[in-house]
Amino acid sequence: MHPDTRTTTGHGHPYDSILETVGNTPAVKINRLAPEGIALYVKPEFFNPGASVKDRLALNIIEHAERTGALMPGQTVVEATSGNTGIGLAMVCAAKGYPLVITMVETFSIERRKLMRYLGAKVVLTPKAEKGIGMVRKAQELAKENDWFLASQFETEANADIHEATTAREILADFKGQRLDYWVTGFGTGGTVTGVGRVLRKERPETKIILSEPDLAPMLGSGEGQTRNDDHTPAASHPAWQPHPIQGWSPDFIPHVLQEAIDHHLYDELYPVSGAQGMEWAQKLAKEEGIITGISGGSTFAIAMEVAAKAEAGSTILCMLPDTGERYLSTPLFDAFGADMNDEETTISRSTPGYQLG
Ligand code: PMP
Repeated sequence: MHPDTRTTTGHGHPYDSILETVGNTPAVKINRLAPEGIALYVKPEFFNPGASVKDRLALNIIEHAERTGALMPGQTVVEATSGNTGIGLAMVCAAKGYPLVITMVETFSIERRKLMRYLGAKVVLTPKAEKGIGMVRKAQELAKENDWFLASQFETEANADIHEATTAREILADFKGQRLDYWVTGFGTGGTVTGVGRVLRKERPETKIILSEPDLAPMLGSGEGQTRNDDHTPAASHPAWQPHPIQGWSPDFIPHVLQEAIDHHLYDELYPVSGAQGMEWAQKLAKEEGIITGISGGSTFAIAMEVAAKAEAGSTILCMLPDTGERYLSTPLFDAFGADMNDEETTISRSTPGYQLG
């Protein structure tokens, strides 16, 4: 071996289960895209075993329910999800032996459906016209009729708690003794912003929390509140919501979990972002940094770049990247990347005589 070859050290012990590998994602520096004088970092949640931030929540929902007795051995779990929670739950339920039924709007990517089924879950699609609330109500209906355990990611305390206990602690540890001027995130359930926000407000009060939402669905930006039922589920779609391409972000209601972040002022600024901007920055992260993230990651990064452009020299920014770009191969994110050779590739092929396709 050449003496300069990179080496690794391992984890120091084997893991007892795939579930033990959830969390502890790294903070990674952006080297080519960051403006001069700004230390820009991302936290790629695709390092989780199910390749998204939602593995954290999925594991905590199941273990919280096991501890409280809400979930019995062998009982079926049911949940409404835009996909990543479903994939996380499917992984956890497979590892622990619970049957799982997922309800999901038909518009979310095919990769999501296939992965959940691959992990042994049943995926029940709900109509696009009924929006996110439709999939939530279907899950409630199925839970009630069959006496299944409803995971309730939009309402459960197990959601923000796991980000308070893990995501936030990782950020504190990785930026200990260093500046952290801005932390940038979006929201789906709001678990990430609420849980991390609780901790940063106490432990790093100087850190500005930047929240983003789709420009087409400015629910928070509109200032209008959410009507809710007694069990905290949404009573109706939010009037400012419109369909948007940032999968996993902003369902058609303001979730109860996010309400805490609004009521307790757990964010400092709110930025709208377009799906086109998000896809452009996700593609740039791939091509110029070697980082494969999804549309919500690109959208969060687009806002981090806006913040970076305005920040004073010497600032440090941390940006969440919720999932992997591989979850979007069938979506517009990959439209420009075909399966066949393009003109440039054909020219390279023809530039030498051998091994050409007919
Ligand atoms: N991005 C993607 C792709 C997601 O699936 C989710 C969760 N639905 C989020 C971002 C937002 O995370 P949170 O639910 O913690 O707000």
